Amino acid sequence: DSTNQYLLDRLARGVTGEKASDLLCGQACLAEMQTAGRGRRGRHWISPYAANLYLSLYWRLSRGIQGAMGLSLVVGVVIAEVLKEYGVTDVRLKWPNDIYIGDRKLGGVLVELVGQVDDACDLVIGLGLNISMPQEKSTTIDQPWTDLSQTLDCVPPRNELAVAILLALTAALTTFDRNGFRPFVSRWRTFDLFDGKVVKLLMGNRQVTGICRGVDEQGALVLEQEGVLVNYMGGEISLRSV
Ligand code: ATP
Repeated sequence: DSTNQYLLDRLARGVTGEKASDLLCGQACLAEMQTAGRGRRGRHWISPYAANLYLSLYWRLSRGIQGAMGLSLVVGVVIAEVLKEYGVTDVRLKWPNDIYIGDRKLGGVLVELVGQVDDACDLVIGLGLNISMPQEKSTTIDQPWTDLSQTLDCVPPRNELAVAILLALTAALTTFDRNGFRPFVSRWRTFDLFDGKVVKLLMGNRQVTGICRGVDEQGALVLEQEGVLVNYMGGEISLRSV
């Protein structure tokens, strides 16, 4: 179904005690395709066969759920930096979880909570990244999208890319667990899709407009509204350009 779901199911067996989970922090799941890939709030993630990267990683953070604030942004920074090393010049990040090339969506990050273990918390970190999407499989994507093959003359093999991402990600997660989001603030801002732009913030049936002024040290979005900086954090917020 989905790489996140696969890891969540394996971990749930450990929690219910029927069978202790044999997963170790740092184990990853990769798939050739997903029949039920998902984005935030259960939205469908189009995941055709042998075309893209579908990757999830099981990780334990020592500072509990509070310590996970900003995590999806850290994952975005890692992906953006890896792609830059491969020669992608126009990588952008859209708060809180989307990866773009220019103004087209390339990938998304989905962090899901497994549970609390004493002071620590267990998470599954999922990534879908378009590498070489067959045109005919993309017709249901209802927003501008792209893949690496549209940008790079020589697309790296998926396995190589997965290794580069996992190595960079596990290093970044160790830093994040120790120091929080602070070391990533300026790195995230270098890729900010909406920096200085006027945006709409959708929060359920509420909506506000403002100018994007980056992120704070917790990874909250900073919006300038009538000259005042307001910080927004939370899972139910979506950003749209005006
Ligand atoms: P938000 O700003 O709330 O995150 P979003 O539209 O980016 O909104 P996500 O949950 O991040 O929502 O991603 C799911 C959406 O991404 C889908 O509704 C679809 O529009 C788009 N999508 C689905 N599959 C792909 C794909 N393979 N590549 C690019 N975009 C996709």
